[in-house]
Amino acid sequence: MHARRTSIAAALALGLFTFPVLAADLQPSELLKQAEAEQPAYLETLKTLVAVDTGTGQQQGLARVSEMLVERLEALGAEVTATPATPSAGDNIVGTLKGSGTANFLLMVHYDTVFAEGTAAKRPFRTDEKRAYGPGVADAKGGVAMILHAIKLLQAQQFDGFGTLTVLFNPDEEMGSAGSKKIIAELARKHDYVFSYEPPDKDAVTVATNGINAVMLEVKGKSSHAGSAPEEGRNAVMELAHQLVQLKDLGDPDKGTTVNWTMIKGGEKRNIIPASAAAEADMRYS
Ligand SMILES: [Zn+2]
Repeated sequence: MHARRTSIAAALALGLFTFPVLAADLQPSELLKQAEAEQPAYLETLKTLVAVDTGTGQQQGLARVSEMLVERLEALGAEVTATPATPSAGDNIVGTLKGSGTANFLLMVHYDTVFAEGTAAKRPFRTDEKRAYGPGVADAKGGVAMILHAIKLLQAQQFDGFGTLTVLFNPDEEMGSAGSKKIIAELARKHDYVFSYEPPDKDAVTVATNGINAVMLEVKGKSSHAGSAPEEGRNAVMELAHQLVQLKDLGDPDKGTTVNWTMIKGGEKRNIIPASAAAEADMRYS
């Protein structure tokens, strides 16, 4: 049972879900052939998605793509809900398919991008022999299309050997998932396998990625005129510099964590002892 589940999991991850009976019976070469035959339809979906700007917060574009995704999931026979991802713009879209098996799968990815309004018009979708180009094509609309077509292939084989197959599309990943964190955690808890369809930068299935965080350091001092009474001031910039030297080794290479101080700010005028200073660090953890 476990081996079979793992095969299903691997097939889902690769978007190669095309078997008539059991995953274990499938010849990988046959599976690959079917997925390759699906490629033109996949690219057509990708083109449609990339043609609409959905930068995080761009309400209009997010709403248009949300509408498309709801429609596509319903066409696949899913029961679909779209709930506003407050405080973010756009909807969390959840599609549910029920099968006759026992293992529960969650397939998720975001449909917002990092691109400004107008990028899709300026830099429209195109392909060459090897790659597709356009705003958000890899991050992560390629994954959105992959989910839709993986399920389509699955259904073409009339496969329903899962308990629940849930799809989640969220609209705010690029700004920290403020309006989708909760539903991601809730849904993840209810499923045996969770697949993020964020396309990796090579042909691979990734089992773990780094988390990202920010470290903020603020120093409060006391201002004073640098010419007439410097001794009455408390120099926040000097203290910040001192702190940064002390805190430069917060990362731990053995645990794979890094902390790099990347921005500092302090002082208002050259002749005033600065009363405040601040620094920000980029933090990554496994
Ligand atoms: Zn992404």
